[in-house]
Amino acid sequence: MDPVLDKAVSRRPVLEPILRAFWSVHEASLALARALEDRWRPEFIEVDARRLREGVPVLVGHSLQAAEGALEGAFRGFIPVLGDTFPHLRNDLDRMASLHDGRGVDLASVCRAYLEGDLSGIGRAFRAAGVEPGSVLLVLHETLSAALKSLDRLVGQRLPDADWWRGYCPLCGALPVAAYLAEGADPSSRFLSGGGGQRYLHCAVCGHDWRFPRRMCPACGTEDKDVYVYFQVEGEPAERVDVCGNCGGYLPCIDYREAWEGLPVDLAVVAMLHLDMWACLKGYHPLMWTPWNGVGPCDGPASSRVH
Ligand SMILES: [Zn+2]
Ligand SMILES: [Zn+2]
Repeated sequence: MDPVLDKAVSRRPVLEPILRAFWSVHEASLALARALEDRWRPEFIEVDARRLREGVPVLVGHSLQAAEGALEGAFRGFIPVLGDTFPHLRNDLDRMASLHDGRGVDLASVCRAYLEGDLSGIGRAFRAAGVEPGSVLLVLHETLSAALKSLDRLVGQRLPDADWWRGYCPLCGALPVAAYLAEGADPSSRFLSGGGGQRYLHCAVCGHDWRFPRRMCPACGTEDKDVYVYFQVEGEPAERVDVCGNCGGYLPCIDYREAWEGLPVDLAVVAMLHLDMWACLKGYHPLMWTPWNGVGPCDGPASSRVH
């Protein structure tokens, strides 16, 4: 057992099964990402600084068909992992694997649709075969995520952090699934505002993190402090949810200076599912739908507003 996971479970015992399940998935995703690095063609690995300055993520303009090797490896690698972690999904997973083996689905096309948030259009072939929509989303998310994490390992370090101030991921273009606060290195930066912590956004798809202004909505860019506010449960200063009255989006935020040290963001967001539920009940929507947000036990409503 990992001490970081054990600590998270002791803080949120009610979430133990789901935390342990997603920990296994997270570990498998990192291992697959390491193994898939050699599946990427050179054109994906070149970083065009001019395009980035214009706000164009690395992946935009590249066909995912050319990334089929990585996607294929991730899909085949994840089916057994998900079957072991979520045994009740095995029938769905077997159907998806059979359909894929029979060339009944274009993996690159459905992964592109998922990445672009086109949830209505994805996986029609899977669904026609009787696979539950939740299983389709889980498999597509983990397939794409493991593949793109391997790309992030190759190019992520070379992305010019100072030139990127957009609310979407510089590598894959997805909106963030969560934000976090950590110690900032440059106290004069506009990215720091109040409290001294640096705000980072985290991409659940490719795993990339990037700096972003503390009080700006990543989805619509508003900085209106009466519109972009946050809520948190009393006595839990490390956890909050930022909500935007302008675009209706919400974003969980973890303050690593207060708690959850060492817990990967992808696991911390699972530990904070009650804030997702609360925000959904209040009519806000996540910036990025994932297999885990919007579901889970509710610890009660968040109670205080700060900003
Ligand atoms: Zn990304
Ligand atoms: Zn907004």
